[in-house]
Amino acid sequence: MHIIDLRSDTVTQPTPAMRRAMAEAEVGDDVFGEDPTVRRLEELCAGRLCKEAGLYVPTGTMGNLVSLLAQCGRGDEVIVGDQAHLYYYEQGGMSALGGMHPRIVRNRPDGTLDLAEIADAVRDPNNVHYPRSRLIAVENTHNRCGGSPLSVDYMHRVGKLAREHGLLLHVDGARLFNASVALDVRPSELVADADSVSVCLSKGLGAPVGAVVCGSKAFITEARRARKVVGGGMRQAGVIAAAGIVAIEQNVERLAEDHANARSLAAGLAALPGLQVEDVPARTDILFFRVTRPNLTAAQLVTRLAESGVRMFAFGPDRIRAVLNYHVTADDVETVLTATRTALQ
Ligand SMILES: *Cc1c(COP(=O)(O)O)cnc(C)c1O
Repeated sequence: MHIIDLRSDTVTQPTPAMRRAMAEAEVGDDVFGEDPTVRRLEELCAGRLCKEAGLYVPTGTMGNLVSLLAQCGRGDEVIVGDQAHLYYYEQGGMSALGGMHPRIVRNRPDGTLDLAEIADAVRDPNNVHYPRSRLIAVENTHNRCGGSPLSVDYMHRVGKLAREHGLLLHVDGARLFNASVALDVRPSELVADADSVSVCLSKGLGAPVGAVVCGSKAFITEARRARKVVGGGMRQAGVIAAAGIVAIEQNVERLAEDHANARSLAAGLAALPGLQVEDVPARTDILFFRVTRPNLTAAQLVTRLAESGVRMFAFGPDRIRAVLNYHVTADDVETVLTATRTALQ
């Protein structure tokens, strides 16, 4: 059976170009700063984001964690969305490992945080009862909010607000390149106000592992220290970083194909009775839809689809997520729509 896997953009297999680059990578001990391939990847990412320096980490989760560990201390407060990956899916690492206190602001359906609500959440530094507000974290694109990209204008406004309150800005840019492609802006424009950014190489960009954190040289020095304490100091990591270089150099523009396929899938699903597709300001590779038919749960529909070789994730009792990726073609989208129509009958 031909399997069409829409569970995540993390299911992507490395491309032949990646496997070649990995086989041929020049390597050294990266904890000694001697792996030329890792350095090249870090410089490449920092360059794309117009930041001074980069740091290669094994995962996006570690990218977020070391960014926070480098910039916040025990009892410092991190203002973060209630739907943010950083809050929702990272075991509360900022608290468990870093002694930070999350201050939750509700995410709007488009993934943004209301600026007035952020301002309200900032603590009076002179009141001895309060933790100290230290950092605002936003996510772009926003995974749980339908892969919604946050605009350059919004990113500037949240950056300005952070500066006005003497706070730092962290961007969880696991899918920042999807945002830049969907909005047709340079990724650096989206993070111009950010003190730290984490981007994933292993989502739609297709690398087997890895993420890169970017920011100032001083920040990266601290983040490098934090990476070591959480066990992220890797040795001949150029073997995997090589695939990351290919991901950045060859796989960014083609994200537009995933977005186009997501748009046709969204339109096709929206036309099926019993389903409701969630809207976003601009479609990226992720889409969420709801099962509105009585007596059919998201889990049941997902099981039926799996029987015909189409894999998706149930994200709640009536909510399903589908994520496009480069293994899924426009023809596959048609197959998925046919399978869904059948599964609904
Ligand atoms: C996937 C993801 C991460 C974490 O990346 P891992 O490499 O899976 O640890 C962080 N933030 C967002 C928004 C993500 O989608």
